[in-house]
Amino acid sequence: MDANVARRFGASSTSKETDVMDRRKVLSTGSAAAVAALAGCATGGTGSPTGGGKTVFAVAQPMLPIVGTSEMFPVRRIYCIGRNYAAHAREMGSDPNREPPFFFQKPSDAIQIVAIGTTADHPYPPLTKNYHYEIELVAALGKGGRNVAPEEALSLVYGYTIGLDMTRRDLQRAMGDEKKPWEIGKSFDRSAPMGPLHRVADVGHFTKGAIVLKVNGVTKQSADLNMMTWSVAEQISKLSQAFELFPGDLIYSGTPENVGPVVPGDVMQGSIAGLPTLDVRVTGTKNA
Ligand code: MN
Repeated sequence: MDANVARRFGASSTSKETDVMDRRKVLSTGSAAAVAALAGCATGGTGSPTGGGKTVFAVAQPMLPIVGTSEMFPVRRIYCIGRNYAAHAREMGSDPNREPPFFFQKPSDAIQIVAIGTTADHPYPPLTKNYHYEIELVAALGKGGRNVAPEEALSLVYGYTIGLDMTRRDLQRAMGDEKKPWEIGKSFDRSAPMGPLHRVADVGHFTKGAIVLKVNGVTKQSADLNMMTWSVAEQISKLSQAFELFPGDLIYSGTPENVGPVVPGDVMQGSIAGLPTLDVRVTGTKNA
């Protein structure tokens, strides 16, 4: 924040008069965006200001490259379903009957884009001593909606990619035990490594096919997408009852059983039949 901006937001007490004048100036423009900016509102989605106001600094819009095009897919939100494969639900200590699905979110800037054919360096994150992989199919919405019927839901999907729902398992569990939110275990920086997006027009929909995660060449997770408790279509339908969905929303569709830890030096390779692999090397050092 530069000095002018800091003054405008009252961070500096050097000139109260200037501060008040600047606020009046902003308010007198009558621009909803400017007023919202002053109030600290975010952009994007329901009730958001659109255009008109100059921002005080730039914030990057997270986006994914779209394979086969020079265009980018702007990411709005990242939703993740929990315990969506029966065997994984069991290993996490819950009953895999078809209880209603639950969702959490990762911030969209948690995305780490992994280019096809490369192995991305992924720093071991702070605080955890039990850092887990979860390989998942990720659906990207090109259309939004509310109360979307399952039969209509796939028409909202623009494309798919492979993603890792990286998890600080120890922190997630500790928070769960205390009935606190999962954020620190699930929603941290770079917790969403993923590949570029593949358009439905090019790759179709994914309702079955192998989903595999290897660590250092050894298979750790191996299942079929048809083993999801709630299909991608059903997930979209359920989500849309709780949230209005918008173009740009991503949905992590859950991980199969046999999640487990990685340490610095490990190389993870995720694969889903019909998509290029996702390759990530954990770097840095373990936390003392
Ligand atoms: Mn997950």
